[in-house]
Amino acid sequence: MSKVNSFIRWMLIDPRNPQLAQAQYNALKTQIPALYFLLMVNAVAVSYTHYDIAPFYLTVGVLIPMLAVTSFRLVAWLRAGKISPGPDEAIKKMRQTVLLGSVIAVIYIAWSLSLDGYGGPEERGHIALFIAITVIGCVFCLMNLPQAAILVMLIVTVPYLVYYVGLDQDVYFAIALNIFLVFLVVLKVLLNGYSGFCKLIRSQEALAAKQRETQSLSEENRRLAHTDALTGLPNRRYFFNRLENLIEDDENTERTFAVGVLDLDRFKPVNDTYGHKLGDQLLAEVGDRLKSLKHPDIEVCRLGGDEFGILFTGDPANAATVSQSICERISAPYRFGELQLTIGASCGIAIYPEAGRSAHVLFDRSDYALYNSKSNSRGRTTIYSKSHEAKIRSERAIESALQCADLDNEFKVYFQPVVSLPGREVVGFEALVRWHSPVLEEVEPDQFIAIAERTGLINRLTISLFEKAVRQIKSLPGDLYLSFNLSAHDITSAETVATLLETILRNGIDPKLITFEITETSVIGSYEAAESCLRKLRNAGVKLALDDFGTGYSSLGYLHRLPIDCVKIDRSFVSDISEQVAGDVITSIVNLCRSMQMSCIVEGVEKSSQLEVLEVLECKLAQGFFFAPALPFDEVHESAHATRTVAGLPLAGFDATAEKHRSRA
Ligand code: C2E
Ligand code: CA
Ligand code: CA
Repeated sequence: MSKVNSFIRWMLIDPRNPQLAQAQYNALKTQIPALYFLLMVNAVAVSYTHYDIAPFYLTVGVLIPMLAVTSFRLVAWLRAGKISPGPDEAIKKMRQTVLLGSVIAVIYIAWSLSLDGYGGPEERGHIALFIAITVIGCVFCLMNLPQAAILVMLIVTVPYLVYYVGLDQDVYFAIALNIFLVFLVVLKVLLNGYSGFCKLIRSQEALAAKQRETQSLSEENRRLAHTDALTGLPNRRYFFNRLENLIEDDENTERTFAVGVLDLDRFKPVNDTYGHKLGDQLLAEVGDRLKSLKHPDIEVCRLGGDEFGILFTGDPANAATVSQSICERISAPYRFGELQLTIGASCGIAIYPEAGRSAHVLFDRSDYALYNSKSNSRGRTTIYSKSHEAKIRSERAIESALQCADLDNEFKVYFQPVVSLPGREVVGFEALVRWHSPVLEEVEPDQFIAIAERTGLINRLTISLFEKAVRQIKSLPGDLYLSFNLSAHDITSAETVATLLETILRNGIDPKLITFEITETSVIGSYEAAESCLRKLRNAGVKLALDDFGTGYSSLGYLHRLPIDCVKIDRSFVSDISEQVAGDVITSIVNLCRSMQMSCIVEGVEKSSQLEVLEVLECKLAQGFFFAPALPFDEVHESAHATRTVAGLPLAGFDATAEKHRSRA
């Protein structure tokens, strides 16, 4: 019973398979016009051969409306060639075709058989042939719609067989039986062909589904490849792709835009103090704040670490204001349970096309502007400008001169005395590098040290200068100590530290007489590596001084956590010493050092008035142009030997040079 039901459902065009109906419709579009054409031509031929023998109403009268209906359907199918129906429409059309095909089959077979009674054997043969050939032709044209093909075949061949059997003439009976057998064979071929057609459609559907799945997977992969997992913001790859696209688009539209690089301030200490887990939570929270911006003209991406990229596609004149509001949004406090944290953000912006026309130049320049914000105005936004351009050029010149410099001959160590108070005796020297480049002439250490650090040359330079300084200080009389500046790269390189210690040993100097000066900023970058190197130096008996104290974070934490022996108070406090605040700062640092049993050197003493105040504050050690600037070794050597003092050099030996410097200043 269920087989019958499913056969009936199939015959009525199963609505559960609309894709198949669509495919059938598309295949029939090219075949059915041929079917109707064949039908009309063959019918006209039959009418022609019977014109003289059959009644006019049959040969012409009935034929004309038949041809009219057939041509109407022919035109309808020719028009359908341009249409692709939806699934429901396709089912409707297939049902219509089955029905109309059956009706037309009924009309044609009735017409043909009604003509059969009028002719002689030849005309009757023509009718038999017309019916047989036409039905086979039609059935082949309908092979993609077997429901219609079967009905047409049954409607034609069954009455045909019954009619000829009824005539009781062997020839016609044989022809009818023949046709019926051919019908069965054609039916078999037809159903085979149709099942192949169905399989093809199903495999095409499966392939299309697979393709859709692959496409959606590849879209998802693309999205993931462009998303930062921690914050959910677009990532670095997306940022640079988008930047390239903006540049390409703007080459046609000549629209400008701005590129920003934003870096979190004080993120590193949070990460170091509270651990990476909280650091990640904080970054995710920052990401949420950035995502909630929803500004139509900006896109924020995470570039890595605590660095974010911003693309401003609106008016670049507003970029700085927008970026400043982003920095402020990031600076609002964060809560993690009981803990409340505050960080900041600085930003650098480069505007296209003034700052550059390629993605990497724009990025480098916004990064340069960021570097300026970081070093001069934290928490603020800097726009890359012409003055930065000039600075970059001079830095490039320094960089290339530095790359090919002869470290041994172009660099010299100068020595600035450190003086004890109130006796004003020289107790040691700070070694300060001087570079005379054959290309650029005198270059300030402040300028080239930073570049040497950036280009990775600093370690070689430090080792070469230290070797010189040690050899020279060794030849001076007395137990004078040597204070030597180390950069961040030096104190995080175990190899450099080992070479420095080896130099001290090889030259037979008492490590107690060597002090290495470091700054807070040089430690902060990679605290763990720096601390382990500093402990190694300290364990070897070397002393450590914290330089430029009061300018950086001035975190007392570092004084406790690091093995520091001496603090050097930055010269900015001495120059303002007449002001209450600067005086108070010096007093409190001096007292702090006393209580922590550290020595304390006041830098930058230029005037006797400043020295008088320091003496009242009971400062024990000082350094500055008032006593002497950094001097070439020959001058130091001469003065030292002239005084021939062993325990400590009286300052008198340097008076002449100091006087010269004072009068120049
Ligand atoms: P710093 O370590 O703070 O060195 C002190 C700077 O202040 C020196 O500048 C010195 O000449 C200057 N100075 C000394 N007394 C006075 C004074 O009374 N008034 C004023 N206005 N300045 C005074 P310099 O030699 O130009 O060095 C600048 C910076 O370059 C140094 O600052 C240090 O950070 C770095 N540096 C110098 N030599 C070396 C070195 O061999 N290695 C490393 N890594 N850095 C060095
Ligand atoms: Ca120093
Ligand atoms: Ca200093």
